[in-house]
Amino acid sequence: MKNKFKVFFVIFFMCAGLFSQEIQFGKEESLNNITDGPYILWENNKAVIKYILNNNPVSQEVTVQGEGTFSFSLEGFDKDFEISSIPPTIHPSTFSDVSKIFVISDIHGQYDRFVQLLKGNRVIDANLDWSWGNGHLVILGDVFDRGSKVTECLWLIHKLENQAERWQGKVHYLLGNHEVMFLRGDLKYVHDKYKKAAELFKMELPKLYSANSEFGRWLRSKHTIVKINNILFVHGGIHPRVSYWGYNLQDINDKIRRNIDSSDDTIKYSEYLSFLFGSDGPLWYRGYFEDTNTSPQIKQDDMIELAAHLEVSEIVVGHTTQDFINPFFKDKVIPIDTGIKYGDKGEALIWENETFYRAKANGYREQIIFK
Ligand code: ZN
Repeated sequence: MKNKFKVFFVIFFMCAGLFSQEIQFGKEESLNNITDGPYILWENNKAVIKYILNNNPVSQEVTVQGEGTFSFSLEGFDKDFEISSIPPTIHPSTFSDVSKIFVISDIHGQYDRFVQLLKGNRVIDANLDWSWGNGHLVILGDVFDRGSKVTECLWLIHKLENQAERWQGKVHYLLGNHEVMFLRGDLKYVHDKYKKAAELFKMELPKLYSANSEFGRWLRSKHTIVKINNILFVHGGIHPRVSYWGYNLQDINDKIRRNIDSSDDTIKYSEYLSFLFGSDGPLWYRGYFEDTNTSPQIKQDDMIELAAHLEVSEIVVGHTTQDFINPFFKDKVIPIDTGIKYGDKGEALIWENETFYRAKANGYREQIIFK
Protein backbone atom coordinates (compact mmCIF):
# COMPACT_ATOMS: atom_id res chain seq x y z
CA MET A 1 0.00 0.00 0.00
CA LYS A 2 1.48 3.33 -1.00
CA ASN A 3 1.57 6.05 1.50
CA LYS A 4 1.81 9.43 -0.11
CA PHE A 5 2.68 12.48 1.78
CA LYS A 6 4.37 15.72 1.01
CA VAL A 7 7.31 17.16 2.83
CA PHE A 8 8.38 20.74 2.45
CA PHE A 9 11.71 21.99 3.56
CA VAL A 10 12.64 25.37 4.70
CA ILE A 11 16.35 25.73 4.92
CA PHE A 12 17.81 28.43 7.08
CA PHE A 13 20.93 30.19 6.04
CA MET A 14 23.10 32.67 7.83
CA CYS A 15 22.39 35.01 4.98
CA ALA A 16 18.69 35.52 4.24
CA GLY A 17 19.58 37.44 1.09
CA LEU A 18 20.32 34.14 -0.61
CA PHE A 19 16.58 33.62 -1.10
CA SER A 20 16.03 36.81 -3.04
CA GLN A 21 16.98 35.16 -6.32
CA GLU A 22 14.98 32.29 -7.78
CA ILE A 23 17.29 29.71 -9.32
CA GLN A 24 16.07 28.05 -12.51
CA PHE A 25 16.50 24.28 -12.45
CA GLY A 26 18.96 23.46 -15.20
CA LYS A 27 20.47 26.92 -15.40
CA GLU A 28 24.15 27.01 -16.34
CA GLU A 29 26.20 28.10 -13.37
CA SER A 30 29.77 29.23 -13.11
CA LEU A 31 32.01 27.23 -10.82
CA ASN A 32 32.04 30.16 -8.41
CA ASN A 33 28.31 29.89 -7.85
CA ILE A 34 27.03 26.38 -8.36
CA THR A 35 23.64 24.94 -7.56
CA ASP A 36 23.44 21.18 -7.79
CA GLY A 37 21.49 18.22 -6.53
CA PRO A 38 19.62 17.06 -4.66
CA TYR A 39 21.39 13.82 -3.79
CA ILE A 40 19.58 11.43 -1.47
CA LEU A 41 21.41 9.08 0.87
CA TRP A 42 19.24 6.38 2.46
CA GLU A 43 19.99 5.30 6.01
CA ASN A 44 17.31 2.73 6.92
CA ASN A 45 14.10 4.79 7.16
CA LYS A 46 15.93 8.09 7.03
CA ALA A 47 16.58 10.05 3.83
CA VAL A 48 19.47 12.50 3.97
CA ILE A 49 18.85 15.15 1.31
CA LYS A 50 21.99 16.96 0.21
CA TYR A 51 22.29 19.78 -2.28
CA ILE A 52 24.33 22.84 -3.13
CA LEU A 53 22.62 26.22 -3.36
CA ASN A 54 24.82 29.08 -4.54
CA ASN A 55 27.96 27.25 -3.38
CA ASN A 56 26.43 26.51 0.03
CA PRO A 57 26.19 22.82 0.92
CA VAL A 58 22.89 21.96 2.60
CA SER A 59 22.00 18.72 4.32
CA GLN A 60 18.54 17.85 5.63
CA GLU A 61 17.35 14.62 7.23
CA VAL A 62 13.84 13.28 6.84
CA THR A 63 12.44 10.27 8.64
CA VAL A 64 10.14 8.30 6.38
CA GLN A 65 7.20 6.60 8.09
CA GLY A 66 6.34 3.30 6.43
CA GLU A 67 6.86 2.36 2.81
CA GLY A 68 5.81 4.66 0.04
CA THR A 69 6.65 7.61 -2.17
CA PHE A 70 7.05 11.14 -1.00
CA SER A 71 7.64 14.38 -2.79
CA PHE A 72 9.46 17.44 -1.61
CA SER A 73 10.29 20.95 -2.70
CA LEU A 74 13.59 22.67 -2.10
CA GLU A 75 14.23 26.36 -1.79
CA GLY A 76 16.04 27.45 -4.95
CA PHE A 77 14.81 24.64 -7.21
CA ASP A 78 11.73 25.21 -9.32
CA LYS A 79 10.70 21.53 -9.56
CA ASP A 80 9.37 19.10 -6.97
CA PHE A 81 11.21 15.84 -6.45
CA GLU A 82 9.59 12.49 -5.78
CA ILE A 83 11.32 9.50 -4.23
CA SER A 84 10.24 6.16 -2.84
CA SER A 85 11.48 4.48 0.29
CA ILE A 86 11.03 1.15 -1.52
CA PRO A 87 14.16 0.14 -3.47
CA PRO A 88 13.65 -0.03 -7.25
CA THR A 89 12.56 -3.32 -8.78
CA ILE A 90 14.41 -4.99 -11.64
CA HIS A 91 12.34 -4.83 -14.83
CA PRO A 92 12.09 -7.60 -17.41
CA SER A 93 14.63 -7.49 -20.27
CA THR A 94 12.11 -8.27 -23.02
CA PHE A 95 8.87 -6.56 -24.02
CA SER A 96 6.39 -7.20 -26.81
CA ASP A 97 3.31 -5.50 -28.27
CA VAL A 98 4.72 -2.04 -27.58
CA SER A 99 2.90 0.61 -29.63
CA LYS A 100 5.67 3.19 -30.09
CA ILE A 101 9.28 3.73 -29.02
CA PHE A 102 11.35 6.92 -28.69
CA VAL A 103 15.12 6.32 -28.46
CA ILE A 104 17.83 8.78 -27.49
CA SER A 105 21.49 8.23 -26.68
CA ASP A 106 24.69 9.77 -25.34
CA ILE A 107 23.14 12.81 -23.68
CA HIS A 108 26.31 13.49 -21.66
CA GLY A 109 24.80 16.11 -19.38
CA GLN A 110 23.27 18.17 -22.22
CA TYR A 111 19.98 18.64 -20.39
CA ASP A 112 18.67 21.46 -22.60
CA ARG A 113 19.13 19.51 -25.83
CA PHE A 114 17.62 16.42 -24.17
CA VAL A 115 14.52 18.42 -23.19
CA GLN A 116 14.26 19.98 -26.69
CA LEU A 117 14.24 16.55 -28.35
CA LEU A 118 11.69 15.11 -25.91
CA LYS A 119 9.46 18.17 -26.02
CA GLY A 120 9.75 18.68 -29.79
CA ASN A 121 8.52 15.13 -30.34
CA ARG A 122 5.81 15.26 -27.66
CA VAL A 123 7.36 12.67 -25.42
CA ILE A 124 6.97 15.29 -22.69
CA ASP A 125 4.73 18.34 -22.48
CA ALA A 126 5.53 21.98 -21.74
CA ASN A 127 5.74 21.18 -18.00
CA LEU A 128 8.24 18.40 -18.74
CA ASP A 129 5.67 15.76 -17.77
CA TRP A 130 5.19 12.44 -19.58
CA SER A 131 2.98 12.75 -22.67
CA TRP A 132 4.07 9.61 -24.57
CA GLY A 133 1.07 7.61 -23.32
CA ASN A 134 1.70 3.86 -23.28
CA GLY A 135 4.81 4.24 -25.48
CA HIS A 136 8.33 3.37 -24.36
CA LEU A 137 11.27 5.75 -24.00
CA VAL A 138 14.71 4.17 -24.33
CA ILE A 139 17.73 6.12 -23.04
CA LEU A 140 20.62 4.26 -24.59
CA GLY A 141 23.27 5.06 -21.95
CA ASP A 142 25.95 7.72 -21.41
CA VAL A 143 23.85 10.31 -19.64
CA PHE A 144 26.94 10.80 -17.47
CA ASP A 145 30.18 12.76 -17.94
CA ARG A 146 31.36 15.67 -20.11
CA GLY A 147 28.42 18.09 -19.61
CA SER A 148 27.40 20.14 -16.57
CA LYS A 149 23.72 19.14 -16.26
CA VAL A 150 23.93 15.45 -15.49
CA THR A 151 21.96 15.77 -12.23
CA GLU A 152 19.11 17.57 -14.03
CA CYS A 153 19.01 14.79 -16.66
CA LEU A 154 18.90 12.10 -13.96
CA TRP A 155 16.02 13.72 -12.06
CA LEU A 156 14.04 14.17 -15.28
CA ILE A 157 14.52 10.51 -16.28
CA HIS A 158 13.71 9.43 -12.70
CA LYS A 159 10.46 11.42 -12.78
CA LEU A 160 9.43 10.28 -16.26
CA GLU A 161 10.03 6.66 -15.27
CA ASN A 162 7.43 6.99 -12.49
CA GLN A 163 4.99 8.96 -14.61
CA ALA A 164 5.23 6.54 -17.57
CA GLU A 165 4.19 3.62 -15.35
CA ARG A 166 0.93 5.42 -14.55
CA TRP A 167 0.11 5.45 -18.28
CA GLN A 168 1.25 1.85 -18.89
CA GLY A 169 4.25 3.35 -20.65
CA LYS A 170 7.86 2.62 -19.76
CA VAL A 171 11.27 4.28 -19.50
CA HIS A 172 14.31 2.09 -20.08
CA TYR A 173 17.46 3.81 -18.90
CA LEU A 174 20.19 1.47 -20.14
CA LEU A 175 23.74 1.57 -18.84
CA GLY A 176 26.48 2.97 -21.07
CA ASN A 177 30.21 2.77 -20.52
CA HIS A 178 30.15 6.21 -18.84
CA GLU A 179 27.58 5.13 -16.22
CA VAL A 180 29.70 2.09 -15.38
CA MET A 181 33.00 4.03 -15.42
CA PHE A 182 31.54 6.64 -13.08
CA LEU A 183 29.99 4.12 -10.68
CA ARG A 184 33.31 2.23 -10.61
CA GLY A 185 35.06 5.43 -9.58
CA ASP A 186 36.68 6.46 -12.87
CA LEU A 187 36.09 10.22 -12.84
CA LYS A 188 38.26 11.10 -15.86
CA TYR A 189 35.43 12.68 -17.83
CA VAL A 190 33.45 14.27 -14.99
CA HIS A 191 32.66 17.99 -15.40
CA ASP A 192 34.51 20.19 -12.89
CA LYS A 193 31.17 21.31 -11.44
CA TYR A 194 30.65 17.89 -9.86
CA LYS A 195 34.18 17.77 -8.45
CA LYS A 196 33.49 21.16 -6.95
CA ALA A 197 30.12 19.97 -5.53
CA ALA A 198 31.82 16.96 -3.88
CA GLU A 199 34.48 19.29 -2.46
CA LEU A 200 31.77 21.54 -0.98
CA PHE A 201 30.02 18.50 0.52
CA LYS A 202 33.44 17.35 1.84
CA MET A 203 32.68 13.95 0.32
CA GLU A 204 34.14 11.72 -2.34
CA LEU A 205 31.94 12.16 -5.44
CA PRO A 206 31.16 8.40 -5.86
CA LYS A 207 29.70 8.38 -2.30
CA LEU A 208 26.78 10.44 -3.64
CA TYR A 209 26.11 7.51 -5.97
CA SER A 210 26.82 4.67 -3.55
CA ALA A 211 24.52 1.63 -3.41
CA ASN A 212 22.54 3.22 -0.55
CA SER A 213 21.95 6.51 -2.38
CA GLU A 214 18.80 7.16 -4.43
CA PHE A 215 20.70 7.59 -7.72
CA GLY A 216 23.09 4.76 -6.89
CA ARG A 217 20.54 2.09 -6.11
CA TRP A 218 18.41 3.24 -9.04
CA LEU A 219 21.32 3.01 -11.50
CA ARG A 220 22.34 -0.38 -10.08
CA SER A 221 18.85 -1.67 -10.99
CA LYS A 222 19.36 -0.85 -14.68
CA HIS A 223 19.87 -3.18 -17.62
CA THR A 224 22.49 -3.01 -20.34
CA ILE A 225 20.36 -4.55 -23.10
CA VAL A 226 16.62 -4.53 -23.71
CA LYS A 227 14.60 -6.20 -26.45
CA ILE A 228 11.35 -4.46 -27.37
CA ASN A 229 9.12 -6.07 -29.97
CA ASN A 230 11.79 -7.51 -32.23
CA ILE A 231 14.35 -4.72 -31.81
CA LEU A 232 17.47 -4.90 -29.62
CA PHE A 233 18.76 -1.80 -27.81
CA VAL A 234 22.31 -1.64 -26.43
CA HIS A 235 24.80 1.18 -25.87
CA GLY A 236 27.87 -0.16 -27.72
CA GLY A 237 26.84 -3.29 -29.59
CA ILE A 238 26.82 -7.07 -29.34
CA HIS A 239 30.01 -8.83 -30.42
CA PRO A 240 29.46 -12.16 -32.27
CA ARG A 241 31.73 -13.75 -29.63
CA VAL A 242 28.76 -13.55 -27.25
CA SER A 243 27.60 -16.90 -28.63
CA TYR A 244 30.72 -18.55 -27.17
CA TRP A 245 29.13 -18.27 -23.71
CA GLY A 246 25.64 -19.00 -24.99
CA TYR A 247 23.82 -15.72 -25.53
CA ASN A 248 21.37 -14.98 -22.74
CA LEU A 249 20.08 -11.44 -22.55
CA GLN A 250 18.83 -11.65 -18.96
CA ASP A 251 22.10 -13.22 -17.80
CA ILE A 252 24.20 -10.47 -19.40
CA ASN A 253 22.05 -7.83 -17.69
CA ASP A 254 22.31 -9.60 -14.33
CA LYS A 255 26.08 -10.18 -14.60
CA ILE A 256 26.86 -6.54 -15.41
CA ARG A 257 24.50 -5.17 -12.78
CA ARG A 258 25.79 -7.46 -10.04
CA ASN A 259 29.43 -6.71 -10.82
CA ILE A 260 29.29 -2.93 -11.06
CA ASP A 261 31.03 -2.73 -7.68
CA SER A 262 33.26 -5.80 -8.12
CA SER A 263 37.00 -5.30 -7.89
CA ASP A 264 39.15 -4.98 -11.01
CA ASP A 265 40.68 -8.36 -10.11
CA THR A 266 37.30 -10.10 -9.91
CA ILE A 267 36.56 -8.87 -13.42
CA LYS A 268 40.07 -9.54 -14.73
CA TYR A 269 40.16 -13.17 -13.53
CA SER A 270 36.78 -14.08 -15.05
CA GLU A 271 36.96 -14.54 -18.80
CA TYR A 272 33.26 -13.80 -19.20
CA LEU A 273 33.26 -10.69 -16.98
CA SER A 274 36.39 -9.38 -18.76
CA PHE A 275 34.49 -9.71 -22.01
CA LEU A 276 31.30 -8.05 -20.67
CA PHE A 277 33.18 -5.09 -19.12
CA GLY A 278 35.85 -4.87 -21.85
CA SER A 279 36.18 -3.23 -25.26
CA ASP A 280 34.28 -6.05 -27.03
CA GLY A 281 31.48 -6.04 -24.43
CA PRO A 282 28.05 -4.43 -24.90
CA LEU A 283 29.03 -1.21 -23.12
CA TRP A 284 32.05 -0.45 -25.30
CA TYR A 285 31.93 -2.43 -28.56
CA ARG A 286 32.49 -0.43 -31.78
CA GLY A 287 32.96 -3.29 -34.24
CA TYR A 288 29.93 -2.44 -36.38
CA PHE A 289 31.71 0.73 -37.50
CA GLU A 290 34.64 1.49 -39.76
CA ASP A 291 37.70 3.41 -38.62
CA THR A 292 37.60 2.71 -34.92
CA ASN A 293 40.85 1.74 -33.27
CA THR A 294 39.37 -0.58 -30.69
CA SER A 295 37.72 -3.34 -32.76
CA PRO A 296 38.01 -4.50 -36.38
CA GLN A 297 34.77 -4.05 -38.31
CA ILE A 298 32.66 -7.19 -38.69
CA LYS A 299 31.46 -8.25 -42.12
CA GLN A 300 27.90 -7.63 -43.31
CA ASP A 301 27.13 -11.36 -43.62
CA ASP A 302 28.36 -11.96 -40.07
CA MET A 303 26.14 -9.11 -38.88
CA ILE A 304 23.08 -10.59 -40.58
CA GLU A 305 23.91 -13.96 -39.03
CA LEU A 306 24.36 -12.35 -35.60
CA ALA A 307 20.95 -10.63 -35.78
CA ALA A 308 19.38 -13.98 -36.68
CA HIS A 309 21.20 -15.64 -33.77
CA LEU A 310 19.96 -12.93 -31.39
CA GLU A 311 16.48 -13.30 -32.94
CA VAL A 312 16.10 -9.59 -33.65
CA SER A 313 15.24 -7.59 -36.75
CA GLU A 314 17.42 -4.55 -35.89
CA ILE A 315 20.06 -3.58 -33.34
CA VAL A 316 19.93 0.05 -32.17
CA VAL A 317 23.23 1.35 -30.75
CA GLY A 318 24.75 4.57 -29.42
CA HIS A 319 28.36 5.21 -28.29
CA THR A 320 29.95 5.73 -31.72
CA THR A 321 29.08 9.23 -32.92
CA GLN A 322 27.61 9.70 -36.42
CA ASP A 323 26.58 12.84 -38.33
CA PHE A 324 22.98 11.67 -38.58
CA ILE A 325 20.95 8.48 -38.11
CA ASN A 326 21.74 6.29 -41.09
CA PRO A 327 21.12 2.52 -40.82
CA PHE A 328 23.59 0.12 -42.44
CA PHE A 329 24.37 -3.61 -42.87
CA LYS A 330 21.04 -4.02 -44.72
CA ASP A 331 19.37 -1.93 -42.00
CA LYS A 332 20.36 -4.42 -39.30
CA VAL A 333 22.29 -1.73 -37.39
CA ILE A 334 20.75 1.64 -36.53
CA PRO A 335 23.32 3.98 -34.94
CA ILE A 336 21.72 6.85 -33.05
CA ASP A 337 24.51 8.73 -31.22
CA THR A 338 24.42 11.87 -33.35
CA GLY A 339 26.42 14.22 -31.16
CA ILE A 340 24.05 15.48 -28.47
CA LYS A 341 27.26 15.84 -26.43
CA TYR A 342 28.15 18.89 -28.54
CA GLY A 343 25.11 20.69 -27.11
CA ASP A 344 23.47 22.05 -30.24
CA LYS A 345 22.98 18.99 -32.43
CA GLY A 346 21.76 15.41 -32.31
CA GLU A 347 18.70 13.47 -33.37
CA ALA A 348 16.53 10.77 -31.85
CA LEU A 349 14.93 7.63 -33.27
CA ILE A 350 11.21 6.93 -33.33
CA TRP A 351 9.55 3.61 -34.06
CA GLU A 352 5.83 3.93 -34.59
CA ASN A 353 3.31 2.09 -36.81
CA GLU A 354 6.03 -0.45 -37.70
CA THR A 355 8.14 2.36 -39.17
CA PHE A 356 11.48 3.91 -38.14
CA TYR A 357 11.99 7.68 -38.28
CA ARG A 358 14.87 10.06 -37.63
CA ALA A 359 13.42 12.72 -35.34
CA LYS A 360 14.66 16.31 -35.02
CA ALA A 361 14.31 18.59 -32.02
CA ASN A 362 11.70 20.67 -33.88
CA GLY A 363 9.44 17.63 -34.26
CA TYR A 364 10.27 17.00 -37.91
CA ARG A 365 10.54 13.28 -38.61
CA GLU A 366 11.77 11.42 -41.66
CA GLN A 367 11.27 7.73 -42.44
CA ILE A 368 14.60 5.89 -42.65
CA ILE A 369 13.92 2.22 -43.37
CA PHE A 370 11.70 1.10 -46.26
CA LYS A 371 10.72 -2.56 -46.21
ZN1 ZN B 1 29.66 5.36 -24.80
